[in-house]
Amino acid sequence: MPAEDQFDIFVIGGGINGCGIARDAAGRGYSVALAEMNDFASGTSSAATKLIHGGLRYLEHYEFRLVRESLMEREVLWAMAPHIIWPMRFVLPFHKGGVRPAWLIRLGLFLYDHIGGRKLLPATKTLDMRRDPAAKPLKSLFTKAFEYSDGWVDDARMVVLNARDAADRGALILSCSRVTSARREAGLWHIDVEDRATGAGSSFKARMLVNAAGPWVDVVLSDVFSNNSAHNVRLVQGSHIIVRRKFDDPRAYFFQNPDGRIIFAIPYETDFTLIGTTDRDYNGDPHEVRITDAETDYLCKAASEYFKEPVAPSDIVWTYSGVRPLFDDGASKAQEATRDYVLKVEGGKGDAPLLNIFGGKLTTYRRLGEHALEKIIEMIGTKGAPWTAGSSLPGGDFPATGYDAQVSALKDRYSFLGDRHARRLVRLYGTLAARMLGEAKALSDLGRHFGADLYEVEVNWLMNREWARYAEDVLWRRTKLGLKVGPAEVAGLEEYMREKMREVA
Ligand SMILES: Cc1cc2nc3c(=O)[nH]c(=O)nc-3n(C[C@H](O)[C@H](O)[C@H](O)COP(=O)(O)OP(=O)(O)OC[C@H]3O[C@@H](n4cnc5c(N)ncnc54)[C@H](O)[C@@H]3O)c2cc1C
Repeated sequence: MPAEDQFDIFVIGGGINGCGIARDAAGRGYSVALAEMNDFASGTSSAATKLIHGGLRYLEHYEFRLVRESLMEREVLWAMAPHIIWPMRFVLPFHKGGVRPAWLIRLGLFLYDHIGGRKLLPATKTLDMRRDPAAKPLKSLFTKAFEYSDGWVDDARMVVLNARDAADRGALILSCSRVTSARREAGLWHIDVEDRATGAGSSFKARMLVNAAGPWVDVVLSDVFSNNSAHNVRLVQGSHIIVRRKFDDPRAYFFQNPDGRIIFAIPYETDFTLIGTTDRDYNGDPHEVRITDAETDYLCKAASEYFKEPVAPSDIVWTYSGVRPLFDDGASKAQEATRDYVLKVEGGKGDAPLLNIFGGKLTTYRRLGEHALEKIIEMIGTKGAPWTAGSSLPGGDFPATGYDAQVSALKDRYSFLGDRHARRLVRLYGTLAARMLGEAKALSDLGRHFGADLYEVEVNWLMNREWARYAEDVLWRRTKLGLKVGPAEVAGLEEYMREKMREVA
């Protein structure tokens, strides 16, 4: 019988890849522990464009394996989590003399429609921009556009729901816990972890270690494993700006820039438009990454080429930046570096192997997890079969097209909820929204009000079930209510959460 602090697998990093691997492994019956040094998704996994997409642009770089796998995943992930993932139509305006000829775009979209197991998502169509409402917010340069399907995801919630499900399947999931060292002894890893809130240390043993530290993967190799020559990933910064809603249409836009890059303008959190992204090499600490003035100018100018009403830096209400941990394939330009993932095992069977994860997209996290499990099985033996396709993430156990029905059911049961409030709760918690609201009969039963439509019952849920510790975790990752509350409300929430953390300490 293994000791309580001994596991089959220990995962470093609570981004989408670490949490996805932990969930898959726990579901197969392995004993699993995962340590995240900050909050779940506090690294790259909350800073994405948030598309579950094949990556139309990657076809230009002949990344057919990646595009096909990603396209296949769109409907698998949508079915797993229809609360946080939903289909989105993208309008790609076309004008003669643009960066890419119409035949090339048509060919790309034909492949997109046909190589990726599309069943429910509607196919590509051509729009007459002299009549289509999608033309309304745009300059009148375009007579034609292509409209195609991809998916949208709440990235930070996808991470925490994987962590939650892994924990529900028996994994030990630790936030605020940094792995400081790991060494091999008698065929086992001995791992030291520091609690970043208290400074306390703890130790664990594991048969196999997974380094899923995203942009820190090389830092972990040098600091934790003393491999100072590690250079596997190319860090590429991408930034987004959020402005007040630029258009009413539910579709997103795909704009091509004269430099060959593309940006998206996407309806965001009902009242906003999300515009991004950029690609620039980055050498600093990934946690310190911030949008630069040059990126702000670039995004405003690129969007203003298309929108009638230009986008100015003064329109920006929020920005976020992230660092892509791309496998370094020696590409000359950041935008050309491969978006595919690479898994490498160090050490042999019986010698406490280490699996390093390089690269990987939100869209491919589940398949990356399956591939990681293949390596794990090779190294430490089989337990259970692949199971995540066809499973549901917590709260996602309703039909892929059933969101509106869930909202109606929630409003019927809790008639005091406003439409927007009910919609937000179903988007975030799916079928678990009712469990969270419990026997509430009136808004006053939801406890203290923290601004916008955030009440105590939701904050408690996030603290008790989703490891939220600070106001920032609640306002910017578990929800995006940070866009809707003021500084006094943030301070009130911070104080409340600090008190609660003290009570449990
Ligand atoms: C601008 C941008 C746009 C993107 N858009 C998309 C998109 O639209 N669709 C898509 O599919 N993908 C997209 N991606 C890619 C995707 O977001 C990333 O590939 C993915 O989130 C990487 O996840 P990860 O788990 O590898 O890394 P991370 O999310 O960074 O997780 C790694 C974690 O490891 C933790 N960690 C590091 N060191 C330690 C340690 N010593 N101990 C404990 N924990 C540690 C970190 O705190 C971090 O949370 C985008 C990326 C960027 C930057």
